[in-house]
Amino acid sequence: MSFIVQGKSVVKKFGDFVALDHVDIDIENGEVVCIVGPSGSGKSTLLRCINQLEKIDGGGLWVDGELVGYRIAGSALHELDDKQIARQRLATGMVFQRFNLFPHMTALENIIEGPIQVLKRSPQECREQALELLERVGLSDKANAYPVELSGGQQQRVAIARALAMRPRLMLFDEPTSALDPELVGEVLQVMRDLARSGMSMIVVTHELGFAREVANRVVFMDAGQIVETGAPEEILMYPRNERTRGFISAVL
Ligand code: ADP
Ligand code: MG
Repeated sequence: MSFIVQGKSVVKKFGDFVALDHVDIDIENGEVVCIVGPSGSGKSTLLRCINQLEKIDGGGLWVDGELVGYRIAGSALHELDDKQIARQRLATGMVFQRFNLFPHMTALENIIEGPIQVLKRSPQECREQALELLERVGLSDKANAYPVELSGGQQQRVAIARALAMRPRLMLFDEPTSALDPELVGEVLQVMRDLARSGMSMIVVTHELGFAREVANRVVFMDAGQIVETGAPEEILMYPRNERTRGFISAVL
């Protein structure tokens, strides 16, 4: 079994506040894991630690077989330097709630920026790949559109294409449809569904329990910085064992 993410007793603090409280999480290559849980439970923090936007304060975290951080009792046993972090962060693509496209660049320019500037790939090759990606997310006709000319759902699909252009081994989604008008949610979920079927390893923080039930291999329920329950979608969403999970599921449905 090969893991794309392994977390052992991960602790993350903000001052005295414990945002991740000894989180154990293993995600296999090709797995699609949905994380659900109330606001403030640490879902975004977990993704940000995996993507190394935050440093962990305890435990061990590996992404794609490489050690991201390992700490015991606050003393740094192992920490990557900025260069290693930058290189390793390339293994993960992240899509946020707010479509953070560069406003002064077209959809195509947004997609080719990273591969050209960071990966130093040829502009011609990057343009070809970008056009393929735009087709994959159903936006072939929007290559030259600026973000302001696109709907929220279209912008989010460009954001997914832009992340994929870096050829990540893992995609992280942090409530990618929460800022969208209801009628635009489906088109973004469809792109994510296709991506899951293509075998991409994905961690998706979402309140879309229908999507989680249909697409996820596993659902993780978080509360108060802890993983309370994890299991197959039907187990967690239909027959949750934990009281906290039950309360959350019935409130969202
Ligand atoms: P979720 O994504 O589940 O809503 P977050 O991971 O964003 O939760 O936040 C978990 C907790 O950590 C919240 O109580 C939040 O206020 C706190 N938190 C998150 N980021 C910071 C930060 N940069 N500084 C201080 N507290 C933070
Ligand atoms: Mg969040």
